Amino acid sequence: MTATRTPGLPALEDGLLISTNPASGDEAGRVPVADEAAVTEAVAAARTAAAWWAGLGFDGRKERLLAWRAVLADRIEELGELTELEGGKPAADAVVEATAAIEHIDWAARNARRVLGPRKVRSRVMVLEHSGHLEYQPYGVVGVIGPWNYPILTPVGSISGALAAGNAVVFKPSEYTPVVGQWLVDTFAEVVPEQPVFQAVHGLGEVGGFLCRAGVNKVAFTGSTATGKKVMAACAETLTPVIIEAGGKDAMIVDADADIAAAAEAAVWGGMTNAGQTCIGIERVYAVAPVYDAFVAAVVEKAGKLRTGHEIGPITMPRQLDVIKRHIDDALDRGGEAVLGGRESVQAPYVSPTVLVDVPEDSAAVREETFGPTLTITKVADADEAVTKANAVPYGLGGSVFGKANAIRIARRMRSGMVAVNSALAFVGNANLPFGGVGDSGFGRIHGDDGLREFARAKAVSVRRGPSLIPAMTFERTPAQVQRLIKTVKMLYARKR
Ligand code: NDP
Repeated sequence: MTATRTPGLPALEDGLLISTNPASGDEAGRVPVADEAAVTEAVAAARTAAAWWAGLGFDGRKERLLAWRAVLADRIEELGELTELEGGKPAADAVVEATAAIEHIDWAARNARRVLGPRKVRSRVMVLEHSGHLEYQPYGVVGVIGPWNYPILTPVGSISGALAAGNAVVFKPSEYTPVVGQWLVDTFAEVVPEQPVFQAVHGLGEVGGFLCRAGVNKVAFTGSTATGKKVMAACAETLTPVIIEAGGKDAMIVDADADIAAAAEAAVWGGMTNAGQTCIGIERVYAVAPVYDAFVAAVVEKAGKLRTGHEIGPITMPRQLDVIKRHIDDALDRGGEAVLGGRESVQAPYVSPTVLVDVPEDSAAVREETFGPTLTITKVADADEAVTKANAVPYGLGGSVFGKANAIRIARRMRSGMVAVNSALAFVGNANLPFGGVGDSGFGRIHGDDGLREFARAKAVSVRRGPSLIPAMTFERTPAQVQRLIKTVKMLYARKR
């Protein structure tokens, strides 16, 4: 028996990855580790499957995807329990996560034809003799690389779009959540047994690298900004297009006319759900001076009721505990104050809710992704200052605004891909809305019409429907026809005198 255990990483034994619960150490399951040849083989099998799957057409795929959605809905409790067993996330939170994933599968199945199907487009005067046709064709095989923090919703956001568009998918789940990833693949195979349309390849980070280089036609990556850059560099070697859904440092702005109790409730949930291990989690709050004291008091009162091991699960990745501790220590060393929790909040594998105030804007706790149940709250003079400060980090994923008269105006000024007004994170559950970031949070979109289009290439076809009135694109045009062309261009586009 050959066992390898690297501190902080899941164990490998006899070619199997052993997934364990971060709090109890209980085994959640074992999956085979893929080597480079196995990844290449999976992509080759996916290529054949992709042709079959694309051949089913929108209706055939819709029927299968809706059947998969139904399996997930039927077995949602089982999925919730498995997610808790493997990652430590409370099962109720996992059920909420699975609900959003089910929504996205349903939406992608029902909307793929509308968004991607063949349509006629209007012609233009200069080329009136040709009709225009547009459709979106699948890439072929899409590689999906997913993180551990939302092991159902995050990959399914890409997988549902890629499958609905007619691609086969090879999925590399995080090494911390391979069992949930495999469960998704196995349930899909129950409704699509004919071909390996959706497969998983398991292992440590290098397996993601193999996938990028295995001939996939597009990669949808969700994970940290640092790994996103490596993925992009690997994909650049073969000009493989990528979507990068990376980290965040999302801010909430609380304006003077905000409902303070609602804002505090949303800040606590947005910041501390999943123990703060949420890409679109609220990590910073900017509250205007007139409501600052009341807001801080309400946040402390609500967050103080949350208990580790109950509402607050363990920190999944052991090395993240060091990051969280460093951020708290740095904030306090540099003049910040902990109005809830503090240095002693980090007690592996848990971190208890921590609320920091008066933290310098250039500190790690304000600028870097903390990924723990911590919040910084900063007093600002007005919404303008809040927007400036909220936008002053390299990340730009989501955000939140609480207020009435100016809330939407403020939301539009936030440098981010999504903003929730008078709630936190709500945009992720609306399958009609695109999801993705700007800056260090990445580029490209999943979910919604834009998300579906990421997984298909626009194909333009023009069809001659008659002779050219002004033949231009031919060696056989006459000088008189060129004169007619000049006259027409001037009539249509020249400055009117
Ligand atoms: P990582 O970047 O560490 O890993 C993401 C995935 O990439 C994992 O499957 C990982 O495998 C794989 N990977 C690691 N190294 C490579 C490589 N060289 N080439 C290809 N793939 C590789 O992120 P985490 O799993 O820690 O996830 C947390 C991060 O994800 C946070 O920053 C969070 O904000 C972000 N995130 C972003 C979301 C968004 O939609 N924008 C949503 C959810 C999370 P392995 O695990 O085996 O190392």
